[in-house]
Amino acid sequence: MLPQELIRAKRDGKALRPEDIAAFAAGIADGTISEGQIAAFAMAVFFNGMSREECVALTCAMRDSGAVMDWRQAGVERPVLDKHSTGGVGDNVSLMLGPMAAAAGLAVPMISGRGLGHTGGTLDKFESIPGYQAVPDQDTFIRVVRDVGCAIIGQTAALAPADARFYATRDVTATVESVPLITASILSKKLAEGLDGLVLDVKCGNGAFASDEGFARELAQSLVAVASGAGVRTSALLTDMNQPLASAAGNAVEVANAVRFLTGEARDPRLETVTLNLVARMLMLGGLAEDQNAALDKARTVLDSGAAAEVFGRMVSALGGPADFVERHEAYLPKAPVIRPVPAPRSGQIQSVDARAIGLAVIGLGGGRTRADQKIDHAVGFTALQPVGTAIREGTPLAMVHARSEDDAQAAINAVQAAYGIAGEDAHIKENPIIIECIDGERS
Ligand code: URA
Repeated sequence: MLPQELIRAKRDGKALRPEDIAAFAAGIADGTISEGQIAAFAMAVFFNGMSREECVALTCAMRDSGAVMDWRQAGVERPVLDKHSTGGVGDNVSLMLGPMAAAAGLAVPMISGRGLGHTGGTLDKFESIPGYQAVPDQDTFIRVVRDVGCAIIGQTAALAPADARFYATRDVTATVESVPLITASILSKKLAEGLDGLVLDVKCGNGAFASDEGFARELAQSLVAVASGAGVRTSALLTDMNQPLASAAGNAVEVANAVRFLTGEARDPRLETVTLNLVARMLMLGGLAEDQNAALDKARTVLDSGAAAEVFGRMVSALGGPADFVERHEAYLPKAPVIRPVPAPRSGQIQSVDARAIGLAVIGLGGGRTRADQKIDHAVGFTALQPVGTAIREGTPLAMVHARSEDDAQAAINAVQAAYGIAGEDAHIKENPIIIECIDGERS
């Protein structure tokens, strides 16, 4: 079918055939479909949506537009699983989840992204570690997954190239916010990793890409249905992002937070709940645990025994970082020259935190980017961010700012003070549940 006929059919609300969708996706990757045709198709889908069958066809075609990993051929016998998060603030779950899942017997080839907008990116966090090769060659990636069980690396042009071109056009034609297009975009990249199973962390709240719970649920249901339709066992957790997930937000500070979590030195309770539950779902999907209780027990055991911390250290070293990173991370991670407290403007209880504003304040400090080609300052960010429900006295810290200069620190102090809502000492503070819902796929 001619591309313009496919666009016309979608414009007029007709069902598309999988083979026509596949040809269109192949044309996006090889350049035979023009940017105008991509934009028109995206807008037609934006208004008319896609059936589950159409979305599965688009996802599989975009997955197959580049290389698809084959772990059995690479000698990996373990079940191969990964997790995708739709992104949040202080969301460093991947740093602990990959090593925990690997320590429990899974293989985790995690291809992650950089931060864009107010949410952080796993890749930027790892690049705080001196020597860490975030985009290694394919052989190194395969070797680390096979030998260590887990490798967390960056996106390469070899995987799902149709998505890179499709997304770039959607980004400048107001067509990003379409559930089927987001679904196909996210899943094409993840399924190119050659997975047996996938767990999704769909965040909702003021710090999430999906601020509205209804939209987040619709996206989670679509992701689970389409990944399952593409033959991958999938579950999603809908989790709260109405405050930073961890007490740290930035890059090096989130790596330090992750190491302390793995070694048991300090674990933020909400971060711990989300991480344990996501690892548990991975273990169930991978067939390594019978039920949720057994899976949670296993996840906690590899954490508390230090096995996950050991895997983290081996992965960092295998990807070019220091061999003693876990033991001496403080000596290796970059430090900001100016560290200042954010004084609470009044006494009371923390009632709300605008997580998006905290993410934007990290960008203001230089720790995130507003354009994809910007360099970032890995040392800056926040630590000791106080959670909702904390009783606080005027002048005591809401957080610590790590900044490059006094001016930057003052701007960040103002931003954090504005982001925190403080209620009276006897107000009844309602905390949102951290896990809102679990959505399982048909094949899960
Ligand atoms: N993230 C993606 O990878 N793709 C989208 O379309 C939106 C968010």
